[in-house]
Formats: sequence, C-alpha cells, structure tokens
Amino acid sequence: MLINLTDYFKNTEKADALDVEFNSESIDLGYIKYPVTSSGIYRFEITNNNDGKVKILVKGFSTVLMPCDRCLLEVERKVSVDSEFVLDEPSSYEESEEEAEAFLNGYELDSDLLIHNELTMGLPMKVLCKDDCKGLCPVCGRNRNEGDCGCDTFVPDPRMAAIQDIFNAHNKEV
Ligand SMILES: [Zn+2]
Ligand SMILES: [Zn+2]
Repeated sequence: MLINLTDYFKNTEKADALDVEFNSESIDLGYIKYPVTSSGIYRFEITNNNDGKVKILVKGFSTVLMPCDRCLLEVERKVSVDSEFVLDEPSSYEESEEEAEAFLNGYELDSDLLIHNELTMGLPMKVLCKDDCKGLCPVCGRNRNEGDCGCDTFVPDPRMAAIQDIFNAHNKEV
C-alpha cells in the first residue's frame, strides 16, 4: 500500500492510526526466500512531529516458514515488527547528501517495502525444529530425528583425516 505523507508534513495537527495489510508472499533476502504464511494487520501511527518531521510507529507481526538449521525441516516462526522512524521532509534530500529511506519515493511511503525490510532484520539467527534436533546424518543424509540409520559417523583423529584427504585427492586424479 502507498501512503502519501504530504499532509503529515504540511499540517501540524495531522495524526492518524492506519491498519495496513502486508501483501508480500515471501521475505526475499536475494539468495534465499522465506515464505510468509500469515500476517496480522500492521498498525501505522503517523504524526506530524511539530519540527518539520514526521514520526511513524509501526507494529505488527507475520509468520514466516524457515528451515531448521540442523535437519532442514521447515518450521513456522513469528517475526514481530515494532519500529519507529522520524522522517525528514523528502524535499530536503534534494539539497543534502543524505539518502532517503528505501521505502520512501518522494512523499509516498511503500508500506509493503517498509514491513518487508523490518521483517528481514527481525528474522531469527538460529532456527531449530526442536531444541534437541539430531540433524541429518552426514553419511547418508537421513533425518536422525526419525531414527538411527546405523551409519558410522565416528570422527577420525585429525591427523588421520589429513591422510584421508590426500588419499581422496589422489583417487580423484585417477
Ligand atoms: Zn531439526
Ligand atoms: Zn546415515
């Protein structure tokens, strides 16, 4: 949704609370996309700040599907947004070196882009399907939460591993 901020900059009495839907199907980090499974309504409080600036408070949450770090099972994570922005008059950027926020195009605020970027920053660093997830077997790739595959996952002595590397490299050449 595009929200025109002109009145909020011109009129010192202007203050509104808007209910905004988030319309992106995924959180796109460029190299990976996380599907958005549901979104609550986002509340935008937009106020003239009485100093030539406009203050915006954004609150809401979405549910995002992310793979478990160990076994890759996709699990839902609730990602909340609770952010505050104080925006300079867009015309002031023409004279300054500063760059306007990415979600601003002149006086138009792109709420989907703002929410998307805030969700990106709020994504959890660590995702586990459960605290004691056993992960995938490094030998056969089986999900070890579903049972023991019986593979030998003994980690050899590092000196032995070095010899193993040389052996493997030799085999590749042949
Ligand atoms: Zn897992
Ligand atoms: Zn295995």
